[in-house]
Amino acid sequence: MNIVLFGPPGAGKGTQAKVLTEKRGLPQLSTGDMLRAEIAAGSPLGQKVEGILAKGDLVPDATVIDIIANRYDRPDCAKGAVFDGFPRTIAQAEALDAMLAKRVKKIDVVIELKVDEAILLGRVEQRIKEGTARADDNPVTVKNRLGVYRNQTAPLLDYYGKQGKVITVNGMAPIDDVTRAIAAALDKHR
Ligand code: AMP
Repeated sequence: MNIVLFGPPGAGKGTQAKVLTEKRGLPQLSTGDMLRAEIAAGSPLGQKVEGILAKGDLVPDATVIDIIANRYDRPDCAKGAVFDGFPRTIAQAEALDAMLAKRVKKIDVVIELKVDEAILLGRVEQRIKEGTARADDNPVTVKNRLGVYRNQTAPLLDYYGKQGKVITVNGMAPIDDVTRAIAAALDKHR
């Protein structure tokens, strides 16, 4: 099964992706994690994207599409994957559909984690206070990331909605409740 976890930055996609990996054996394909690993390794790609991540802008579509296609061809994705933070633009979604179609696969379901933006900013402030914030977790960058989400990523809801694939879950509920709601939606889907 190929699942897209969808929602604004800070909605809890990463947390829920890890649960799905553990419970269903589907690897988490997080472009954000992969890009941060490149930056940490100091690779040419990492050097190219570091400034973009620091600002909260999107790296070029071709870059992330390439990363995802390579990652998806590893054997652990044979039964599918959980896409976390990808796709983020219509062009990425189209490329993903084409990439999967070539492999006689498809996106089965898109789980939208619906959250209130004011709460997201509060969560970031909390992470800063606790010292668990990421480099791009500061109020200015987060506001930019939310704007980018609204302009470039939110239109994907319509793209996948037209394909009848979107299941919306209340992302503001406690983590375990969100996990249960996702599990129920996926079990019903099968
Ligand atoms: P994330 O960890 O998913 O919040 O991603 C962190 C940052 O990595 C984003 O703010 C972007 O700069 C970059 N990024 C991650 N995934 C993508 C993507 N699919 N397309 C473009 N940029 C991305």
